[in-house]
Amino acid sequence: MAQQNDQFKKVIAHCKEYGFVFQSSEIYDGLSAAYDYGPYGVELKNNIKQYWWKSMVQMHENIVGIDAAIFMHPKTWKASGHVDAFNDPLIDNKDSKKRYRADQLIEGYVEKLEAKIKKEVTKAKKRFGDSFDEEKYMLESPRVLKYKEQIEDIMARFTKAMGDGDMAELKAIIVDLDIADPDTGSRNWTDVRQFNLMFSTQLGNIAGEEGKLYLRPETAQGIFVNFLNVQKSTRQKIPFGIAQIGKAFRNEIVARQFIFRMREFEQMEMQFFVRPGEEMKWYKYWKEARLKWHKALGTPEEKLRFHDHDNLAHYANAAVDIEFEFPFGFKELEGIHSRTDFDLSSHQELSGKKLQYFDAELNKNYVPYVVETSIGCDRMFLAVLSNALQEETVPDAKGKESTRTVLKLHPAIAPVKCAVLPLLKNKEELTTKARAVFDTLKYSFNCQYDEKDAIGRRYRRQDAIGTPYCVTIDFDTLEDDTVTIRERDSLKQIRVPVSEVEAIVREGVDMKSLF
Ligand code: ATP
Repeated sequence: MAQQNDQFKKVIAHCKEYGFVFQSSEIYDGLSAAYDYGPYGVELKNNIKQYWWKSMVQMHENIVGIDAAIFMHPKTWKASGHVDAFNDPLIDNKDSKKRYRADQLIEGYVEKLEAKIKKEVTKAKKRFGDSFDEEKYMLESPRVLKYKEQIEDIMARFTKAMGDGDMAELKAIIVDLDIADPDTGSRNWTDVRQFNLMFSTQLGNIAGEEGKLYLRPETAQGIFVNFLNVQKSTRQKIPFGIAQIGKAFRNEIVARQFIFRMREFEQMEMQFFVRPGEEMKWYKYWKEARLKWHKALGTPEEKLRFHDHDNLAHYANAAVDIEFEFPFGFKELEGIHSRTDFDLSSHQELSGKKLQYFDAELNKNYVPYVVETSIGCDRMFLAVLSNALQEETVPDAKGKESTRTVLKLHPAIAPVKCAVLPLLKNKEELTTKARAVFDTLKYSFNCQYDEKDAIGRRYRRQDAIGTPYCVTIDFDTLEDDTVTIRERDSLKQIRVPVSEVEAIVREGVDMKSLF
């Protein structure tokens, strides 16, 4: 755990030092759960978005994109269920004045029991050595069985209470389990109550409730209300999808894990409209397709897993998360939800406008069912960065061992694709040639020209921001028009004619390799 926290601290410090992510309004001591993306951060985030957009929209003939407004008619959120049901159970500690999510306190308690089981297994493994049979031990060890039974009891009570919206029962669980404020140890709790996560604001020209607007808590509704506009204007036939990337806002009760949980964040969502009854087929399809998308970036298989929802949202008949092993444990990165016809039917009912599709093959009208894939862009950024940030021992220029910090990002999403470096800063013939090389490459890729400091330090700087290629211009370049290309991961250096650099970099960073 301590090691995990160390890695998380390193990720946060790296983000700040190298211009990936800054705390919002830092000079005023920051605004909690709001972050700004710096010069390399914005490039990386844009590349992640481009990878998603290409694979979801441009690579599918039957998926199209939109960019809907953040503000929507307030009835949207009534129909979607967000006004009545987009709540988290809130509990305050009367002594520390800190606020918590009651569900997270209970889940935290269960996680501790799970950790105890793991510890028992590790101890037993040591004790029994090669003859250890983990499966048998899990079925027979009295301690493990006791913990498992406790977990099952708690989860049964908890799932029911969440399903029933029974706040008194959630409080009772916290009291029965003797759960204390994680920061202060106090058990002096208020009752649990529902807290709506939507931010509201006011239209300028209408006073009171009538003019109340919400900042969208998900991008999906902009897609649903445009369903017929898009279908008719693009003449799509079911099954087809509508995708969107955009900001969403949630007044999270607890938001403490850097860009994992923010109050303003960005989502990449796709709603896939299908025939009623065919939703489970497409749910399976998108589960696999989305996992493949993550793996293509080089994310190790053991850091990704599916987690089926115990508590289904008000709109879903099946839901699964793709979880990633962040430095603070496995957490949701993306959700895949079978949303039934809940949203379109509710909008149809409240607006009084038909939101139906005429299926010529079946010769009938129906409200389509929907399978959604929804991923947080910021969470994806954090996943990618925490997986890529590594420290390695490598030989330095003189062959001695030294440590380097390197971001092993997939080249296709690296913020800078290629750095152009004159060997020496004060030799005009080198800098002039290097500038000329830079000028030919800048049209094709995000490149960087850097002449400050010794060449070894410049390589290290590029490693730290994940640049896959460094092109060095030296005195031989002036003689034979060749340069050295250094590859970030293998550290291999090859000598090539200047005229070949663009093709080599292009091949290495092409997004095609991801599909
Ligand atoms: P969580 O359980 O972590 O609160 P959720 O189940 O409410 O997430 P969804 O409503 O399914 O999340 O949203 C889809 C995706 O949007 C999530 O998988 C996540 O990547 C992202 N997301 C949701 N809330 C936040 C947030 N506060 N900050 C950053 N990303 C978020």
